[in-house]
Amino acid sequence: MNNKSIFELILEGEINSDIIYENGYVFAINDINPVAKVHILIIPKKKIESINFIEEEDTKYLAQMFLTAKLLAKKYGISNSGYRLIVNTNENAGQTVFHIHMHLIGGEKLKNI
Ligand code: AMP
Repeated sequence: MNNKSIFELILEGEINSDIIYENGYVFAINDINPVAKVHILIIPKKKIESINFIEEEDTKYLAQMFLTAKLLAKKYGISNSGYRLIVNTNENAGQTVFHIHMHLIGGEKLKNI
């Protein structure tokens, strides 16, 4: 069996981190090392290592990640000002945690990419 990811340990309460939102498919935490005023991680409750491993059966989790991004953007008041969603995959993108997560970043002007 694979080792648990840090996000699974947070979900199970073995590592302390406030879960700011949760439903049957996903949960969200504040990034420990924020790059902007709002920096939230939206994480599927199913451990999928990266986008390279998604399957047709995972679509509900993936859809819930986007729906949660919309909901939390509204909750944190950045729907209109704008925000960025990022899912890093593998080394060149800087993925460090191999359990898919969507970065929701906003609350200030972001550099163009
Ligand atoms: P990535 O580089 O896309 O794999 O993103 C992993 C993110 O997880 C980084 O932005 C880290 O700052 C964040 N992170 C790592 N450990 C924790 C933690 N215990 N609580 C919250 N965020 C974390």
